[in-house]
Amino acid sequence: MECINCQYSYRLYKLLPCAHGFCFKCISTMKICSICKAQIKGFEYGTNNYQREYNENNIVTINTKTNYTFVVFNSGDRFEGHTSRDNIHGYGKYWFKDEGIYKGYFENGNINGFGVMKYINKNIYSGNWKNNVFHGFGVMLYANGDKYLGGWKNNLFHGLGTYYYIDGRKPDKRIFSNGYYSKYLHFNLEGHCLC
Ligand SMILES: [Zn+2]
Ligand SMILES: [Zn+2]
Repeated sequence: MECINCQYSYRLYKLLPCAHGFCFKCISTMKICSICKAQIKGFEYGTNNYQREYNENNIVTINTKTNYTFVVFNSGDRFEGHTSRDNIHGYGKYWFKDEGIYKGYFENGNINGFGVMKYINKNIYSGNWKNNVFHGFGVMLYANGDKYLGGWKNNLFHGLGTYYYIDGRKPDKRIFSNGYYSKYLHFNLEGHCLC
């Protein structure tokens, strides 16, 4: 069976209420059936049942068995993962149209906890987040081959950290304060507090 829209898929999901069949990829961005123009209220595949909601022009699809949720935002961003009370919450994957792909934890709609962001510019951050910014311990692999490993606060180097250069220069191991080298050393280089 081929999807009438894209001619690729063999797995056709049956639309509710009209029962026309399309592949998951096509359905995920469709609001009305392209054959009969009925608004899509959900769809089925085997014993899986998906419920569809349209919320401020975002397309929200929920697998009613697993509660796994797929969202296509009006902005072009996409999300799939866990939600709670209309917010992204728990583990998920988020495609930021202009930035990159995030895989990790969310709390009430914000990135919080551990997660990995692969940026379009090829930088990769793996570490802790607080309200959508790097916060806590994290590693940044820069597209040019440099690497930073250490503390972060508000997206800036903060606390003990080491910057490794790809060109063979000696690594910079420092105490950073909001992105800058701190004159006030409260920790030695092993991270033990000197106070
Ligand atoms: Zn298709
Ligand atoms: Zn239809």
